Amino acid sequence: MHRLCSLWALLSFLPLLVQPSSAQNFSLHGIDVSDLDRKADPCNDFFEFSNGTWRTNNPIPASMTHWSKRWAAGETSKEKLKDILEAAAADKNAPKGSNEQIIGDYYGACMDESRVNARGMEPLKPWFARIDAASNIQELQHIMADMHDIMVDHPFAFGSQQDPHKPAWVLADIAASGLGLPDRDYYLKPEARFKEAREKYAVHIAAMFRLAGSDDKTAGDAAQTIVAMESKLAQAWLEKAALRDPVATDHNTTFAQLQAMAPHIDWVEYFKHQQIPQDVDMNVDQPKFMQELDRRMSEEPIANWKVYLKWHLLDTTAPYLSAPFVEEDFSFNGKYLSGATENKPRWKRCAESTDQFLGDALGQKYVEKYFPPEAKERVQEMVRNLLAAMRDDILSRPWMSDDTKEKAMAKIATFNPKIGYPDKWKDYSHLEIRRDAFFEDVLAGRHFVEEDDRQLIGKPVDRGRWGMTPPTSNAYYNPLLNEIVFPAGILQPPAFDSKAVDAVNYGAIGVVIGHEISHGFDDEGAQYDYLGRLRNWWTDSDLKQFQARAACVADQFDNYFIEPGVHHNGKLVLGESIGDLGGAKVALLAYRKSLEGKPRPPDIDGFTPEQQFFIAWGQFRGDAIRIESQRLMMQTDPHPVAKYRVIGPLSNLPEFQRAWSCKADAAMVRPEEKRCDVW
Ligand SMILES: [Zn+2]
Repeated sequence: MHRLCSLWALLSFLPLLVQPSSAQNFSLHGIDVSDLDRKADPCNDFFEFSNGTWRTNNPIPASMTHWSKRWAAGETSKEKLKDILEAAAADKNAPKGSNEQIIGDYYGACMDESRVNARGMEPLKPWFARIDAASNIQELQHIMADMHDIMVDHPFAFGSQQDPHKPAWVLADIAASGLGLPDRDYYLKPEARFKEAREKYAVHIAAMFRLAGSDDKTAGDAAQTIVAMESKLAQAWLEKAALRDPVATDHNTTFAQLQAMAPHIDWVEYFKHQQIPQDVDMNVDQPKFMQELDRRMSEEPIANWKVYLKWHLLDTTAPYLSAPFVEEDFSFNGKYLSGATENKPRWKRCAESTDQFLGDALGQKYVEKYFPPEAKERVQEMVRNLLAAMRDDILSRPWMSDDTKEKAMAKIATFNPKIGYPDKWKDYSHLEIRRDAFFEDVLAGRHFVEEDDRQLIGKPVDRGRWGMTPPTSNAYYNPLLNEIVFPAGILQPPAFDSKAVDAVNYGAIGVVIGHEISHGFDDEGAQYDYLGRLRNWWTDSDLKQFQARAACVADQFDNYFIEPGVHHNGKLVLGESIGDLGGAKVALLAYRKSLEGKPRPPDIDGFTPEQQFFIAWGQFRGDAIRIESQRLMMQTDPHPVAKYRVIGPLSNLPEFQRAWSCKADAAMVRPEEKRCDVW
């Protein structure tokens, strides 16, 4: 699941394609003018102008951290999941092993809150007892391997990854992990906000251990031990922005090399446990981390490792334990780190975890009910239009040689769009899911996810697999498969609206499609060739030109901040920002192409077609975000905050300046010498 360049917060979706314009426009609507803030000047702050009134009138709900029409649509989709799940839970005749029984009993068990509360932390007790009974590090490593089976992926993670050098093949991947805070910088940076986060983290760890039965002294000591151990691991981690370079994490490793890298881990046992042969092709993403982990294995007292394993069991399973654990987990991760003031209602959390662990069983029902078959066809057509526009755009670049252009054309020709849902569904029939054992159901679901991933290792790539579930309101590009993927969950208003004019659809889902296509040619995607190989296909001078153009975008975003001293890291958000800039440009190009040979569409509500296009992007992307979540994003998220996803790309486009007749010195017009132009 590495290397998915998602839109993240892109909620919601898409049915009918773009209708022919002109005559039909009279029955189709334009943008929502009531959402505009007309007191704002579009040439000064387009984020405020395009969606300011909507944000004022729709404050972020207590349980949410981001809010906009597309976030609202994403939450509404969960009500559809709830209907499906309640019906399945009520069906007493569903055959055992059927999707209805599996999702119905999972959801029913999750909703039986009084039973979950009555069990307290009893479900974790067998795990804690095993840890307490271990007498040496090898025994603890055995428990760690069992924890990997249930998605407690610490202190390292083990899974499948497509081989970037032999893209028809899947290798084993060992990835750095081990931290409970969101990123290495939280452990290492001196700024007050990180220092505070470390202190709050320690308080949180101690609170969880007290809930699990420890006395105050033991709980406080556990917190200090965890923070100290994780800080040492954090020092060995690469920085988040550096991790974006696929070459930095490309380390083909043999079993013997792995043993030499981390001799204090019993790899023979571990591979036996995973049922993976030792001669498997393998990648270790961060060797320096594995060396530090090995030092910790030999130097930390075994008592510290016991505390460490208990903590990560508690931390990753707390949402499925009784109310006090759920509340303490929310108060740190949801409230303190992200800014929500209330936890989501239980039914929503239950629907979300069903989707997470049993995604295809729920997704199959979702698409049967809510995804019209014609939607797939129409979206495919729009993707074809966008790919054609991207082709024209690349061919028009004067700085790129014919040789590199030819390779880029090969890459576009092999782009594989996936739309709606997979052709083949996963089979859950062997899963044991019971109405009276929610925690064990969660472990069964997690075990399924892990096995489903590991069974791919050492085999040819299955190109039909999806990295997101069908109801997901998001999209992604995967450079290894050179595919763009749009789950059914994103194909609905406001991303795509069959009742809206072309300008609005091209400005919303059109830019989203363009964004995903552009990921194939961002700082990361451009390093993969048309077959998904991590291999340079650029001439030296073209590559230098491309990198200089990308550096312009990184500089632009380095200068954006959310509060004094808290800036975007241009290198971290570079791929997404190239995606947004390319997406806006290519979608506008595709929109214009779609108008060729037709009468120009009329102005609506006083806005020209181009103005409608830009407003659609501003509204689609117009999230309000809690400041706590913005701070978290600055640190860990490759996506810029919504405001800069609107202002950043549009202020680079001469087409925007022309559409709004902005003066050359307007805030939304970057000076000529600073204007960035990649695709
Ligand atoms: Zn993206």
